[in-house]
Amino acid sequence: MTESKIALVTGGSRGLGRDMAINLALKGIDVVITYHTNKPAAEEVVTEIEKLGRSGKAFQLDSSDVKTFEGFFAQLSTYLKEEKGVETFDFLINNAGTGIYTPFLETSEEQFDEMANIHLKGVYFLSQKAVPLLSDGGRIINISSGLARFSFPNSSAYAAMKGGVEVFTRYLAKELGPRRITANVVAPGAIATDFGGGQTRDNEQRRNLISSVTALGRVGEAEDIGGVVAFLCTEDARWINGQRIEVSGGIFL
Ligand code: NDP
Repeated sequence: MTESKIALVTGGSRGLGRDMAINLALKGIDVVITYHTNKPAAEEVVTEIEKLGRSGKAFQLDSSDVKTFEGFFAQLSTYLKEEKGVETFDFLINNAGTGIYTPFLETSEEQFDEMANIHLKGVYFLSQKAVPLLSDGGRIINISSGLARFSFPNSSAYAAMKGGVEVFTRYLAKELGPRRITANVVAPGAIATDFGGGQTRDNEQRRNLISSVTALGRVGEAEDIGGVVAFLCTEDARWINGQRIEVSGGIFL
């Protein structure tokens, strides 16, 4: 039997999800991460979690493919029972995602569907399938984006889905309240990861532009985000519900 709380972080192999997993472990939480194709990176994160004295586990998941979710949760359930001695987990962090930068007039139906599947439909149905395995008093944290509040060229399809996730989160908070499950959004500003081809990390012009419209005068790093998600999984955050927390250094204030 384990007494630690358990978190599930989708897309925990790289970028923001990796930092969330490590910060959760630092708070004494056991962590299950998912990866899409990058198993070695996921295993490296599991090793980091274990070095912090917590248990870690990585499962493959395509969070844009709803029909695979039942199989994924069957695997997770077996893991929880057989290796953790529990039936449920405590925190669901819907983080996995990809980005495209395409002008509205050039966005194809395929690109729109790709964004819808990973950022909205996937999050909706992954949450639906997760809730029976989530403990009463558990937490759901959905990762949105600053782009759902302000407009930046070439992100219309992506940002529209993140806007949908923000509305969805308020419904989750309302409908899961009777089970004391909270649901909140963390909306990062532009963060220097592999996301969107690594443009915020590698494109100097983009970095300068973002820095110039950010009160704290720089682009974000993954390490600016994970601790906020981990905080939302602590007892101190128990009364935060149905909220959107932007973590952007104050962009476009
Ligand atoms: P990264 O590209 O660094 O990491 C993406 C993660 O998602 C990886 O773990 C990847 O797995 C996983 N992933 C990608 N595609 C799929 C899929 N189809 N199914 C399951 N998992 C998948 O991105 P970030 O860490 O930057 O982004 C994480 C989240 O934060 C996303 O939801 C993004 O929209 C959001 N966000 C990012 C911002 C930024 O500027 N970086 C700003 C605001 C929000 P694998 O390693 O196997 O490929």
